[in-house]
Amino acid sequence: MEFQYISNNADQTKAFAKKLASYLQPGDVIALEGDLGAGKTTFTKGLAEGLEITKNVNSPTFTIIKEYKGTMPLFHMDVYRLENSDEDLGFEEYFEGLGVTVVEWAHLIKDQLPPELLTIYLTHSNEGARNIKLVPAGKRYEELCKEIMQ
Ligand code: ADP
Ligand code: MG
Repeated sequence: MEFQYISNNADQTKAFAKKLASYLQPGDVIALEGDLGAGKTTFTKGLAEGLEITKNVNSPTFTIIKEYKGTMPLFHMDVYRLENSDEDLGFEEYFEGLGVTVVEWAHLIKDQLPPELLTIYLTHSNEGARNIKLVPAGKRYEELCKEIMQ
């Protein structure tokens, strides 16, 4: 099962993520995949807006994990730097925690990801456009996708 959305600019990507945020609950995990510049951090900014986070969200590449306070906590991870590393940063604590976790480059820690999560693939389409593909794993995320996309 998968769902597609075409975003024509960064604002549309943020708006789509903001809508997704309104369906999220503590313990939810979103895996973001896509090349550098695909829009993973832009998507996370929209999600943060939906969680009423007022702080500017930027890429946590060098810190790996950043935490923001909103209607619920947002744990924003960028695990790009962990490539070829088996560093264990206690990810489960975040995944099972009281907030929403967003992981950029999630496949790099695939052995540590929970079995149920929502994977979002961002790919360049035309200039400024992005293809956003949602691939839910688990019943909750399947239902969530159906609701968002209808
Ligand atoms: P990543 O985190 O995947 O490396 P970023 O979100 O940091 O990517 O950067 C994406 C860049 O592409 C931003 O400068 C953003 O403004 C731009 N952009 C252009 N069109 C889009 C779009 N449709 N969706 C998301 N970002 C877009
Ligand atoms: Mg990024």
